[in-house]
Amino acid sequence: MADASRLTETVQEVLRSLGVDPRLTEGGNRPVRSPLTGEIVAHVHDSTAQEARAAIGSAHEAFLQWRKVPAPRRGEFVRLLGEELRAAKDDLGRLVTIEAGKIVSEGLGEVQEMIDICDLAVGLSRQLYGLTMGSERADHRLQEQWHPAGVVGVISAFNFPVAVWSWNAALAFVCGDAVVWKPSEKTPLTALAVQALVERAARKFGPDAPQGLSRVLIGAREVGEVLVEDARVPVVSATGSTAMGRIVGQKVAARFGRSILELGGNNASIVTPSADLDLALRAIAFGAIGTAGQRCTTLRRLIVHESVYDTLVASLKRVYASVSIGNPLESDALVGPLIDEAAFQGMQKALAEARAAGGKVQGGERFTEGVSANAFYVRPALVEMAGQTGPVVHETFAPILYVLKYSTLEEAIALQNGVPQGLSSSIFTTDMREADRFLSATGSDCGIANVNMGSSGAEIGGAFGGEKETGGGRESGSDAWKAYMRRQTNAINYGTAMPLAQGVKFDIDAPAEDKGSANA
Ligand code: NAD
Repeated sequence: MADASRLTETVQEVLRSLGVDPRLTEGGNRPVRSPLTGEIVAHVHDSTAQEARAAIGSAHEAFLQWRKVPAPRRGEFVRLLGEELRAAKDDLGRLVTIEAGKIVSEGLGEVQEMIDICDLAVGLSRQLYGLTMGSERADHRLQEQWHPAGVVGVISAFNFPVAVWSWNAALAFVCGDAVVWKPSEKTPLTALAVQALVERAARKFGPDAPQGLSRVLIGAREVGEVLVEDARVPVVSATGSTAMGRIVGQKVAARFGRSILELGGNNASIVTPSADLDLALRAIAFGAIGTAGQRCTTLRRLIVHESVYDTLVASLKRVYASVSIGNPLESDALVGPLIDEAAFQGMQKALAEARAAGGKVQGGERFTEGVSANAFYVRPALVEMAGQTGPVVHETFAPILYVLKYSTLEEAIALQNGVPQGLSSSIFTTDMREADRFLSATGSDCGIANVNMGSSGAEIGGAFGGEKETGGGRESGSDAWKAYMRRQTNAINYGTAMPLAQGVKFDIDAPAEDKGSANA
């Protein structure tokens, strides 16, 4: 009890220091539970459907103003937001740990990712370029321009409670869009904290930042549905499970909106005979055990060549048996809790299915030493499987690593690609032919393919996302910004003739007076 009240006090202190109005986190209908202890640390207020529609309306009004602000000036707003995030990094990172259960360095890393994408977006605000193309017609110019799209709806998952918003919002703001955010119902506090920082940045920016530029909707799927169904939201970026994306993608498509879907992964690494096993072991441990297996890019399948299988699996078993588990605010454990009981039950179900399919399971049991009995800590599970069947083809959002054996690289790549999801993948090899085969068109079918690295821990400079049931969306770096704008093609005739494309003839007999004026 004493511990429980200490955590609630810490939360209140952090929220105060981040500038969150206490009325938003007290006395509401929705309890917020910290996975660190299972304790309820706040009560937030769900947005009603009516409030959600009003928020979308105010964001639309804001967009009509914001699109007129020059893009580099919009970049200045995002620069100020980056400054706020720098100043708030420790507090916000701690709140991520409390609300999502990440270890402290990962909570801080998540805020660093927000800062990084702000920096990228500031530079981008001077580079929202279009192309010019050679026209087939004389005295004609062909070009494309990129214009702001409108209100961008962001739906995010619990496991990256703030970074996912920033991947979308930092780009959307410089692109001239307003943003309405529906964070996970499991992590509303970090969202309210980010909104407070946005508002602070907006005050510093001045009156050019319209009211309504950034809005947050609190609640579960019902409030998300309002965002998804509203035609004033031309772009919906939704991050979460494939089940959610299947519904959201269809609803947005039904009203001809654009969706950016960032859904589940089932990521694999291939360990070849020439791999540096020491390096591979460290990368595999972070990829599979880090964030307690709750990253979309978490390593879930390890495909190991038969010649190195016994050596690598023996080392992994030692790591799995000894990795430190605990409350990240009270220890420097590498593994924090699962988000809730449902996640724990999901993990146990998958392990039972794996056993039934002949899998050899090490770990996976609930961990209770020195942690709250109301929280769900587990020992990460290593499961040796004879084939890719049963739970292996699904994503279970928990630290379970399935290990499979292979003989030829073709077989390994077929196993790697032989699941419905296509997010992240990697190969450990020192053989350049194997590495480039893996990266080629006949190699990994994922949106992310790494060499001598794990599957998780992407940098913001590249476009992030995956194929197949991962949804096909791309966010963050490269040219992902284009999804937040509308493309316009312009053909400009600077001559006096009116040639038609493809040589089409359509010569009307123009009245003499018109011919005269045309020649004047
Ligand atoms: P979830 O699908 O349960 O919820 C995600 C969000 O969608 C929440 O905000 C939820 O309220 C909302 N939602 C659910 N149904 C909705 C509906 N019908 N309409 C509108 N909104 C709806 O996911 P989760 O448990 O929070 O997160 C874990 C999942 O997210 C995993 O599958 C993980 O792989 C995935 N994820 C993917 C990425 C990526 O970039 N590909 C990143 C992080 C997490």
